Amino acid sequence: SPAILWFREDLRLTDNPALNAAVNSGRPLICVYLRETGAGAPREMGGASRWWLNKSLASLGASLEAIGGKLTLRTGPAEKIIPALVEETGAAAVFWNRRYGLPERETDAAIKKTLKDNGVECQSFNGRLLMEPWDLKTGSGGWYKVFTPFWRALQAQYKPPAFIPSPKKIAGASAETENLKDWGLHPEKPDWSGGIAAAWEPGEVGAQKRLDAFLDGPVSDYVGTRNLPGVSTGTSRLSPHLRFGEIGPAQIWRAVRARLEAQQADEDSARVFLSEIAWREFSYTLLYYNPALATENYNSNFNQMAWRKDDSGFAAWSRGQTGYPIVDAGMRELWHTGWMHNRVRMIVASFLTKHLLLPWQQGEQWFWDTLVDADPAANPASWQWTAGSGADAAPYFRVFNPISQGQKFDEDGAYVRHWCPELAGLPDKYLHAPFEADAQTLKRARVMLGTDYPEPIIDHPVGRQRALDAYKAMKEEQ
Ligand code: FAD
Repeated sequence: SPAILWFREDLRLTDNPALNAAVNSGRPLICVYLRETGAGAPREMGGASRWWLNKSLASLGASLEAIGGKLTLRTGPAEKIIPALVEETGAAAVFWNRRYGLPERETDAAIKKTLKDNGVECQSFNGRLLMEPWDLKTGSGGWYKVFTPFWRALQAQYKPPAFIPSPKKIAGASAETENLKDWGLHPEKPDWSGGIAAAWEPGEVGAQKRLDAFLDGPVSDYVGTRNLPGVSTGTSRLSPHLRFGEIGPAQIWRAVRARLEAQQADEDSARVFLSEIAWREFSYTLLYYNPALATENYNSNFNQMAWRKDDSGFAAWSRGQTGYPIVDAGMRELWHTGWMHNRVRMIVASFLTKHLLLPWQQGEQWFWDTLVDADPAANPASWQWTAGSGADAAPYFRVFNPISQGQKFDEDGAYVRHWCPELAGLPDKYLHAPFEADAQTLKRARVMLGTDYPEPIIDHPVGRQRALDAYKAMKEEQ
């Protein structure tokens, strides 16, 4: 009788512990991916993620076929579909890699119980994190709420498991499948994905190429370039691949360590890069212990915060029309490519939650819909971090100045000139604050403020002061 391998957030054949165990069971394999519905399903993906998923599943299906397998697609509540598939195919075992949101965990636990009660073997593995959240504990047995000791403990305790190569051949068993095209993950019309498609290669092969390209050089400059959004190789751009599990963090960890051991990478830079992978882990710990991370303030003091409601401010922010070039460039990069540089994510998130004083959840939801790497742990954790409501968060009173941030991290203006071409003719001096330029300069640069490019929707000192006042009032309420 066959075994079922249930793919979820691990859309890869390489270094996939559940797949490895399923193959080693020696049984014919039914590989399945579910479009889950119902209360026990994961958070519903946004548009950009659905586009990615569509491509990634097509790629996974093709890779499976190349080694004798097949990807079976089904729709419905997992609690019903998996046991039904077991019954239909007579499967004797089910394998999967774990996930960390509460509804999914409850679903998985319920399925495991049903299967075991029926004498069906069910095994789960860690294919998504370096260490399980419950394995990395503080001295007193709690979980780490502060990143630095978390990172220290992770480095001391993490022992990467041996690399598992992709299976060369699998005995694929067949089961009836739905057609990926019928899932309508991405509309054929209007096809808004041009910029995204040009920027990315979803799937395991694309993930591997990104890792290799990054390790072949850029990793050694990471400390110097990771904050520069105009440098396209400044960061790895592995995030959507990690999000969909086309590559796992263990593989990245081992590959970086190997380069270090061969003295093929700069020690400081490689270590800082790994610490970013650890921020991802830290986000998953936060999600695991705080299932409502995407909706509720981690720091409940923020329940008293007097957030504003401002539809036109939100519209200007989301469309990249705030009048602050670095903010607008970021929001346009996001819209066109499904990704935004980390430094600029921090700037735009600060602008939304401080200058506009809008609730972080509104920004989180926009990112959730538009990012190809929209991650159920990293996105809410990072939004709460920026808003000041999170664990180990940036203090709320640290309000990024969008002008000086632009001048510092996009000094030559390459990033802003690319995404806000209407400002390209401005001299560097005014590029990040066109509203400070005199009439002559604007004329020479062919920029008419208010026509070609907006005036700032709020003055920086005014927005900053309003945010600080709101924060003070919130503190006084405690
Ligand atoms: P690199 O610098 O090459 O880092 C390597 C990997 O480490 C990333 O791919 C990512 O998996 C992880 N990583 C890096 N920085 C962080 C971080 N601060 N927190 C958690 N993991 C990190 N990251 C997401 O993966 N998904 C999100 O939905 C997401 N939303 C964010 C929202 C806001 C407001 C902010 C400020 C940050 C967000 N991040 C998110 C974190 C970070 O911006 C991205 O992971 C990073 O920009 C991805 O680019 P990269 O792969 O080139 O990163």
